[in-house]
Amino acid sequence: MRKSYYNHRKKRRASFLSLFIFLFLITGSIGYVVYAQTTVSKAKKEYNLLVDKINDAEKDNIEITNNIKNLEDTVNEKNNEYEIMLSKAKIAYLTFDDGPSSNTLAILDILDKYNIKATFFVNGHEGLEHLYKEIVNRGHVIANHTFSHDYSYVYSSVENFKEDVNKLNDFIESTTGTAPAKLLRFPGGSNNQVSWSYSGKGFMNELVKDMTNEGYNYFDWNVDSKDANAYRQKKDVIVKSVLNGAKYVQKANVLMHDLGPKTTTVEALPEVIEGLISQDFIFDPLTEDAYKPHFLKVK
Ligand SMILES: [Zn+2]
Repeated sequence: MRKSYYNHRKKRRASFLSLFIFLFLITGSIGYVVYAQTTVSKAKKEYNLLVDKINDAEKDNIEITNNIKNLEDTVNEKNNEYEIMLSKAKIAYLTFDDGPSSNTLAILDILDKYNIKATFFVNGHEGLEHLYKEIVNRGHVIANHTFSHDYSYVYSSVENFKEDVNKLNDFIESTTGTAPAKLLRFPGGSNNQVSWSYSGKGFMNELVKDMTNEGYNYFDWNVDSKDANAYRQKKDVIVKSVLNGAKYVQKANVLMHDLGPKTTTVEALPEVIEGLISQDFIFDPLTEDAYKPHFLKVK
């Protein structure tokens, strides 16, 4: 009897335990399902937010791409307008050959006064190093006119010419700290006849081809100030020569000289500039893209 009582209690305890475990498992499972659902819906929300953000970003991207395209179109349009304007513009390239000299600073001061940049086709003048530096510091272009300007030397052979040009390049680089651009003016111009007596009639043709192959852009001129036609030309002749010569051209490459005796070139310069301004010219220094008058028809 006592034994069965104990057995009965044992059985009851066991069924309580089973019930408890059952309830525990049920509650646990429900809890897990609720937890999992919450996590899933949270992840889903985050996912949707990300999808929205990606869509927004794609929209922004399309808008930015369109904006870039519009800006590129505008830039191209402006570039074309600028090119057309530039090709129609009257541009005067003031060039000063054979310097520097005792007149260089006066020329630079006048150019500064009018805020004009010019081109100096220099030679090698030892002792005047500071003037090359001054030309560059004031924003002008230094270009090559050979070191010696000695016709008998430079026009005796292509090798001599090149050696003299390179000598000047080195000299300019050592005095100014910068190698000059490959802009060249042949002493006496590309069609000079002085070279004939040293190397014959075909020499300039050969030399011009050779220097062009070396990457040089050479410039003759289409407006002559005639300041080299006399030891000291009359100021009025210089002014008239430039202003008459420039009347019928759209791009004026003006030949002047920066040499000690050429004081009237300095005196004429303000009138030359003002006269060119009255003819609607603007002023630029030479670059490799600038208008290039060429006397010699190279074969
Ligand atoms: Zn010269």
